[in-house]
Amino acid sequence: MTDLSPNAGSTREPLAYGEPTYKCCENCQQPVAIVPLLSGNPMGGTLWSDGHMDAPQLPEQELLGKCAHCGEIACLAELQDYAGPAAVDNAADHAFEPLALDDYRMLVDHIDLIDASYHLYLRLKCWQLGNHPRRQADAERPLSESETENLQQLLMLFGDDEPDRLLKAEVFRQLGEFERAENALVGPFHSQAGDIVARLRELVRQRQSQLAVIFR
Ligand SMILES: [Zn+2]
Repeated sequence: MTDLSPNAGSTREPLAYGEPTYKCCENCQQPVAIVPLLSGNPMGGTLWSDGHMDAPQLPEQELLGKCAHCGEIACLAELQDYAGPAAVDNAADHAFEPLALDDYRMLVDHIDLIDASYHLYLRLKCWQLGNHPRRQADAERPLSESETENLQQLLMLFGDDEPDRLLKAEVFRQLGEFERAENALVGPFHSQAGDIVARLRELVRQRQSQLAVIFR
């Protein structure tokens, strides 16, 4: 598991990327470049209570992407290798685009057509991208009807592992269900999660339901 504690990592180094591999877009058969990140650390990052991490040294590895050539949305790990016809030498020409909030909303609107193993990820992305305006200036913006619905659906998708338990507590907190949030924070947690648990408990005790910073 990535160590997200504020003192993790040591020095700020340039990000190291590996050699690109090329996959084939199922729609247009053009290449899609996948460039692996070889190193990264959370130094200088901000961890938010919804699990979103802003960290210049640790860019997010996207599960889904849009083909640069035709805009088709694909699960990057499931694409077949590109086998021609032309050789590819410039990965930047074939870089996939990350999905935007509207893309994730569209996918969630059609979630019955999507394999269940993606449901949690899609709803998490909707939640976290929808919170971006709150990270910048609009911290008090109330939850919209569709955000509330998404959070209620998320509660049914979380498992019992530690990250899911923390996110479940946070969803209850953002919904203003403070007793349920408190209950979700009871029990043993791995020592690395200690700071996060303490901060969430403090926010729950204060009956605060807004998105919050865990640490900077
Ligand atoms: Zn394509």
